[in-house]
Amino acid sequence: MTDDSRPSRSLSAGDESALAQACFSAGDGRLRQGAALKFFWGPMDCGKSTMALQMNYNHARQGRRGLVLTRIDRSLGPQITTRIGLAHEAIEVTEELDLCELVKSRWAEGDRLDYLICDEACFYTVRHVEQMAELVDCYDVDVFAFGLASDFRSCLFPAAQRLFELADEVSRIQVEVLCWCGRPGQLNARVVGGTVARHGEQVVIGDTVEAADVRYQVLCRRHFRSGDLGDNR
Ligand SMILES: [Zn+2]
Repeated sequence: MTDDSRPSRSLSAGDESALAQACFSAGDGRLRQGAALKFFWGPMDCGKSTMALQMNYNHARQGRRGLVLTRIDRSLGPQITTRIGLAHEAIEVTEELDLCELVKSRWAEGDRLDYLICDEACFYTVRHVEQMAELVDCYDVDVFAFGLASDFRSCLFPAAQRLFELADEVSRIQVEVLCWCGRPGQLNARVVGGTVARHGEQVVIGDTVEAADVRYQVLCRRHFRSGDLGDNR
């Protein structure tokens, strides 16, 4: 990270388009920059948001500058909240938000930006994931994405699938979440009125006014498949 050939991290709007141009026109295809797209995934309650905030803290301590983004955080506000009580302001990733334009606008304002922390990345669009790759490849911005891999039916979220396809590194978060039976929790079951749901919208936020009787529970594969919730019915 101290290689002098790396471009300055504090680019002006003019510089960054020059860098993007250089990136496309360098021609020899050799590695010039060390930015990376990393995807950290795991079931609910495995500490993804906690790890996202820890990652932000670690990089900020080294003098790097980043933005923290989220989408549909459980607090339903523009912040990341964690189940162990941490909170951090965050930019809400709307459908229309272009991550590349966001970074470029910050650069144009004179801010330095070295990385993005993208929490709840499973709820982003596929286009957002393409923009993450663009930021890494052409703008030398690190992108650290955190999220669920699969939905309540155990099928991949589209954005998670794209992250598996494009990321430089994919890591399963190792903080173990257990099913009620003691086996490792792997899958996020949607529980509606005490029963594991098999059909419905891909994204429904539980414990809200609109979905008061919807909640989520992490189960092992065996009990996800059988729909057995143990005593948590
Ligand atoms: Zn189980």
